[in-house]
Amino acid sequence: MRTPKCHGRVIATLVGCTALVLAVTGTAPAQAGQRAGAERQVLPAGDGWAAYGAGTTGGAAADRSHVYTVTTWEQFKAALADGGSAPKIIRVRGTIDADGPSCDSFAVPGYDFGAYLAKYAPESWGRTTTLDGEPADSPEGLRRASAANQDAYIKAEVPANTTVIGVGKDAGFNGASLQIKGVDNVIVRNLRFESPLDCFPQWDPTDTADGNWNSEYDSAVVYGSTHVWMDHDTFTDGDHPDSTLPYYFGRIYEQHDGELDIVKGADYVTASWNVFEDHDKTILVGNSDSAATAAVDRGHLKVTFHHNLFRNLVERAPRVRFGQVDSYNNHFVAGDGYSYSYGIGMESQLVAEHNAFTLPAGAKAGSILKKWKEAPVTAADNYVNGRRTDLIAVHNAEVPGETLQSGAGWTPALRTRVDPARAVPGLVGHRAGAGRVG
Ligand code: CA
Ligand code: CA
Repeated sequence: MRTPKCHGRVIATLVGCTALVLAVTGTAPAQAGQRAGAERQVLPAGDGWAAYGAGTTGGAAADRSHVYTVTTWEQFKAALADGGSAPKIIRVRGTIDADGPSCDSFAVPGYDFGAYLAKYAPESWGRTTTLDGEPADSPEGLRRASAANQDAYIKAEVPANTTVIGVGKDAGFNGASLQIKGVDNVIVRNLRFESPLDCFPQWDPTDTADGNWNSEYDSAVVYGSTHVWMDHDTFTDGDHPDSTLPYYFGRIYEQHDGELDIVKGADYVTASWNVFEDHDKTILVGNSDSAATAAVDRGHLKVTFHHNLFRNLVERAPRVRFGQVDSYNNHFVAGDGYSYSYGIGMESQLVAEHNAFTLPAGAKAGSILKKWKEAPVTAADNYVNGRRTDLIAVHNAEVPGETLQSGAGWTPALRTRVDPARAVPGLVGHRAGAGRVG
């Protein structure tokens, strides 16, 4: 058996990959539907945690030689790599395929998914040993090598002092994994991200009693970076929802990871007016309880979410560890399979205020908060299906043995405008997401 085909999209050829062409268009006029100067807008003063200290300006100060317009993944990666940390603006035109011609194109010689399934079937391999010790010439070793090819192709590292902005109404990436890693001052706006599909998920027989397929690649990850503004972006599984994924060994062949993960001591992030939709594990703020991670994350992971639409998600909107997260004026619309919205994790200090929740019949308001660890929460002036609801009280009443404590221990100061919670569904519905800047 071959690698399951995971993308219907096909790029005709990769031949052009080595002939990088940068379209330098510093004098290009603004496109219809995008106000002149949107690409040089900076985060307004006081607008969430990314406004803290020096604030977030991205590439607003770029000179004309550092303004790029790109229409292919190769051009985008070349523009990212050009000019070091000099302020730059990268304008993305149209939808760019970042996922290569096919999953098979990443596979190393000898990789065979059928052989993988044959060797690691629970009936023969068992459920007590991971595959991590498998040698390079084993099915797992060949999977690792194939995964490394995909990893190198679909990841793109964003340097400091950069604005990446979509032009007009249809700009974005299919299958990209944006790495905002170890840098300061980045703006990402007006882009639609269709989730990457991991072509080579790893079987872990020891993950839960039944084992699990684990995959990599978030649409965007903020990893140890500071001053990041994610604004008017759309994150979605798009044409590849989990419902289309196959099962092997009785477990879903999970090919998605997160939509936007904020990890490893990242700090001062504002996510505003985005749409996060049609996905399972959506946003991590902090990715581990381990002592090593705690040492990096403690005192950091300060993130503001406001005026975002969280639609048809299963969980993690977000799941928080360590950070002081301010979530206000967001609209959460639950669908089938809804598990929870806010995950209360280790040493987190979530403030959730003035939000609106739309739950289907049968979903319980007590599920909006999920307690993973003992950590305090502030929740006030939230509306569930149009009714003002004390999220902590209803959680504690509906979920025996998971008592949450009220009072996060800090008061958010970095808010520009707070709208009445009951106005949020209309505001966010009309204005959030990609294609609407300018
Ligand atoms: Ca994935
Ligand atoms: Ca992740």
